[in-house]
Order: sequence, then C-alpha cells, then structure tokens
Amino acid sequence: MEGNFSPIKQLYKNLFSMDVPLEKRITHAMLFCSMFGTFFGFIESFVLHLPIFAVLLPLILFFMLLGFSFWGFYTKRTEVFALVSISVIGFVVFPLMFLANDGMHGGMIFYFVIAAVCIALVLKGKARFILFIAIIAEYTVLFVFYKNAPQYFLHMTDETAFIDQLCSMVITSLILFSFSYSVAHQNLHDRETIKNLSKMYETQANTDELTGLYNRRYFNNFLKLAISTLGDTGNLHIAMLDIDDFKVVNDKYGHPFGDTVLQRFAKILKKTESEGATACRYGGEEFLLLIPKKDRAEALHIVEKIIEATWAQIQIGENGFVTASAGFVTCTENMSYNELLQEVDKRLYAAKAAGKNRVVSE
Ligand code: GH3
Ligand code: MG
Ligand code: MG
Repeated sequence: MEGNFSPIKQLYKNLFSMDVPLEKRITHAMLFCSMFGTFFGFIESFVLHLPIFAVLLPLILFFMLLGFSFWGFYTKRTEVFALVSISVIGFVVFPLMFLANDGMHGGMIFYFVIAAVCIALVLKGKARFILFIAIIAEYTVLFVFYKNAPQYFLHMTDETAFIDQLCSMVITSLILFSFSYSVAHQNLHDRETIKNLSKMYETQANTDELTGLYNRRYFNNFLKLAISTLGDTGNLHIAMLDIDDFKVVNDKYGHPFGDTVLQRFAKILKKTESEGATACRYGGEEFLLLIPKKDRAEALHIVEKIIEATWAQIQIGENGFVTASAGFVTCTENMSYNELLQEVDKRLYAAKAAGKNRVVSE
C-alpha cells in the first residue's frame, strides 16, 4: 500500500470509506477543515498586510496539521491519533487563531462549537468528559481575558470581522453537517451489516451443511409450532425417511460417494417444497418431511413419489440403485410432539421390516 501512495486517494478514503473507523474519519475531517481554515487565515493575513506573526502563525499551524494528517494515514493507533489531533486543534490551534482574529469579534468563536462536537463524537471514556470540561474552562478563560484585556488580541476592522464571521459560520455549518451526515450514514450502514450478519448466522444455525436442507434444530421448533397451531392450519402429515442399506453404499463405494447420495436424495426432497412441504436432515441418512394443508391421500402420494424417484434417479455402479423407506403419520389434535415422532419412527421400522423401498402409513 505504501508503494503506490496517493495523498488524494488516501484523503478520500480517510474521509468517506466505511471501512475506516468513524473516529478516524471525523478526526481527518477536523484536520482537513482546520488546515483549510489556517491556510485561508494565512492568505487573508497576507493580503490584509497584518503583522508578520499573524501571517506566519496560521502557516506554521497549517504545516503542523498537515503533518498530523500524514501520521493519521499510516497509524493504526486511531485513539492516540484522534486524542492528540483534537487536543492540539481544540486547545492550541483554535485559541491561537482566536488571539489572531480579533477574539469575539472574529469568526473563530464558531469553531469552538466544532471542538466540543468533535470531542463528543471521537473520544471515548473518561477522555471525552475530561477534555470537554477542560475546553469549556479554557474558552471561558479566553472570553473573560478578551473582555478584560482586548489589547492582547489582534484587531480587525468592522468589515473584515464581519466577513470573517460570515466565512466561519458557513464553514462551521458545513463541518457540523458533514459530521452529522457521516455519523448517520455510518449508523445506517452498521445496522444494515448487523441485519445481514444475523440473517446469515440464523440461516447457518438452521441449515445442514452437506445437504442444504433445514437441520434438526429448525425442524423441531417448526414441528412444535405446527402442532400447536394445528387447529388453524388444518391437516398436518409427517414422514420419516431413511436410505436403505446406506452402510453398504458407504462400505462399497466410499464415504465421499455416500455424501453425494445424501445430496441427491436431499435434492429429491427439496423438490417437494413446491407442494408446500418442508424437509430436513434429521441426522445421518434419516430425513423428515412435514406436509401441511394437504389431505391424507395427497400427502401420502408426495412421499410415495419420493420413494419412487429415489430408485429411479439415484444410480450406483452398473445396474444398481439406491432405495429409501418411509414411515407416514397424519397428525391428530390430541397427538404430542413425542408421540408423533415415536409413531412415525415405528412405521419407518415397519417399512424396513416389510422389505424396505416402501412407505408404511398405518
Ligand atoms: P437400513 O436399511 O436399516 O437403514 O440400514 P443402513 O445401513 O442404512 O443403516 P445404518 O444405521 O446401519 O447405517 C447408516 C450409515 O449411514 C452409517 C453411517 O456411517 C452412515 N452415515 C451417517 N451419516 C453419514 C454422512 O454424513 N455421510 C456418509 N457418507 N455416511 C453417513
Ligand atoms: Mg438406513
Ligand atoms: Mg438410519
């Protein structure tokens, strides 16, 4: 990154990129605006033929702030960078400009507001409160000092003071607007990121990695909900499906091939989603299918089609094929979650005992 350093690119990134911490972006904005202010002050003092210290002071401050900006581009210690930059601007640069710009008659007074806002937005913990109180104290002293000893401040004509105030007011409102905009924008961006991440984690937590079907956790919750709302949703059927002699498939063709068989079987199950069914991998080579809102014959037909599609579509070796068995139960209102699963498991066992590659529904 250091190799193709481009200050403009770096500045843009440090002001606007969401990947750069907000504290760093605001500190850079503060530095950038202060640099603009000091440079403008240098030109103004030069053109107005103000005393040499009023010309040199903003120029020296400008180069100091420029140095801070470069430091900020590279440092990873954002907190130190922010604390030092804001302290120097708030406690040194602004007060010096206050002395050099006719105290309360100049526009510098607006910038004090920026210092307070910047401290609140960028600093953390105790530093935030300590610096806030310190800056109010310092500016109060400056204001009192100006009232009692105006001879120590550089004076401007009424018209120059007016122009200075006007420019400062415009610059201050632009800065405060950009600070608020950055915070609001970042906030929105962060909320969106959190929403997307929680959606992703929720999906991951509910999905079986190998097959992409829902996992047991999701299905258990879903089934409990489906049972409790059975009165509202009408019919509910459940099928437990198990691949036949899967151990043999694994032993003969290897575990990776076994995984492919599970994925193909899952694909067949997934197709039933178009008929309103929900499939899950319950564990190993055992799957559950929940079919709501269908009459019994229709639901049973869906399961029979799965059994048929399995041997028709999942080929192994030259002439071999994979089969699956299923137990099928129609849920009645007095059935509990455990009873339902026990009953469907019993019927699956009966399908295995009766020779496999079939559905048992009684
Ligand atoms: P049955 O017809 O009675 O169901 O016999 P089966 O061989 O299918 O049943 P069994 O319970 O004896 O064996 C299931 C096998 O499934 C054993 C296990 O190694 C395999 N298995 C479980 N999970 C996975 C998996 O994620 N990938 C692969 N390849 N095999 C798995
Ligand atoms: Mg099996
Ligand atoms: Mg099994």
